[in-house]
Amino acid sequence: MNSDGMISVEEARERILDVIARLPVEAKPLAQALGQVLAEDVTSPLTIPPLDNTGMDGYAVRAVDTDGASDASPRTLRIIGEVAAGYIFDGEVAPGTAVRIMTGAPIPRGADSVVPFEETDEPEGRVFGRFAKGRDAVGILKAARPGANVRRAGEDVQRGSMVMRAGTELRAAQIGVLASLGMSSVRVYRRPVIAILSTGDELLEIGQPPEEGKIYDSNAYSIAALVSEAGGIPLSLGIARDTIEDLTEKVHRGVEADMLITTAGVSRGDYDVVKDVLLKEGEVGFWTVRMRPGKPLAFGSFPAPDGRRVPHLGLPGNPVSSMVAFELFGRPAVYKMMGKAHWERPVLRVTVEERVRNEDGRRFLARAIVREREGRYFASLTGPQGSGILTSMALANALVVCPEDIASLEPGDEADAIMLGPVAGS
Ligand code: AMP
Ligand code: MG
Repeated sequence: MNSDGMISVEEARERILDVIARLPVEAKPLAQALGQVLAEDVTSPLTIPPLDNTGMDGYAVRAVDTDGASDASPRTLRIIGEVAAGYIFDGEVAPGTAVRIMTGAPIPRGADSVVPFEETDEPEGRVFGRFAKGRDAVGILKAARPGANVRRAGEDVQRGSMVMRAGTELRAAQIGVLASLGMSSVRVYRRPVIAILSTGDELLEIGQPPEEGKIYDSNAYSIAALVSEAGGIPLSLGIARDTIEDLTEKVHRGVEADMLITTAGVSRGDYDVVKDVLLKEGEVGFWTVRMRPGKPLAFGSFPAPDGRRVPHLGLPGNPVSSMVAFELFGRPAVYKMMGKAHWERPVLRVTVEERVRNEDGRRFLARAIVREREGRYFASLTGPQGSGILTSMALANALVVCPEDIASLEPGDEADAIMLGPVAGS
């Protein structure tokens, strides 16, 4: 904290993450666990692939039988049968013989390599079941190395080996690997339920007719969407009017969740009934964070009837401020509850294309579009940067960071861009 009473973004985040705890473990059907974090080490009960098998359609042969084969002098082998994936050929490839074989099928006993159809006199012979219509021999046009086109048992996973560590985030490939082990359910950290409460007499619920002097509650929707994107489960508490009774009742509902997020009513100077209620019902600190947008922030906790203390994050009311503050403080908190170790977004070094002014010594997070041109990244602003101008956020794929101690970024200067989405084309 400085003499002006402001704390840095990092300090605010540290204080928040210090009191946020990982949630308990749950068993989840594998198909529903995408994005969650594994809570157990996984060792394999299986060898994958279970048997040596072919990576190509063709003929399973003894490599020595193909020595010297060429277009001009094919080696002719007698066909003794065929085998498809999922079946075992019950016989042996003796010298001078071959088995027609389809990708994934186990290599028959006696064979040590596979000659693809393209290297035989049956180049178009891909369809299973067509052989034997008059054919009982195949001409091999190219010598095979021993082991050619054979996928070895266990080349993917060895039985008993450690396949995935606790703490791994389950993305598509991890889900696939766990399915390949035959796991129908996994133990993962639970997703947090995040209660979201908008406050303010000026707010209308969408669906209500417009009214003079009123605005639609957009924060509830943008923050719920951000919670979902982060992997949490939003629980909407609707709008609380600026009255003690309404706020108190809604805050009490909020403690059913794993965290309560409120928006608005946390600015330092203003009289706000929100603050009174938060202070009466829980332990809440009101902070000013050295950033723009999103300076006012509240953080604390409320007691739940079951003895838990439910963390409370009070975001500023301005629509851009609440989104940016969620990005810096809410998303890391959700990640921590889910057991994720890292919350950092990708950061690109960009060249700014226009002036970014930073008047008041706070960290300015400018809404920007980052584009790629000839291997370099360029950032331009999305227009006026007022913290109530939500369309500036909708156009942005990045937040360009103008540090606290820099009065302005000039065209051509380099800066960090926190990427919120994919880089745009030129
Ligand atoms: P406050 O933090 O209550 O001073 O609000 C700051 C600004 O954010 C005011 O212009 C409010 O009207 C606006 N605001 C507060 N809550 C919302 C909301 N849920 N949706 C859209 N704008 C809001
Ligand atoms: Mg207000």
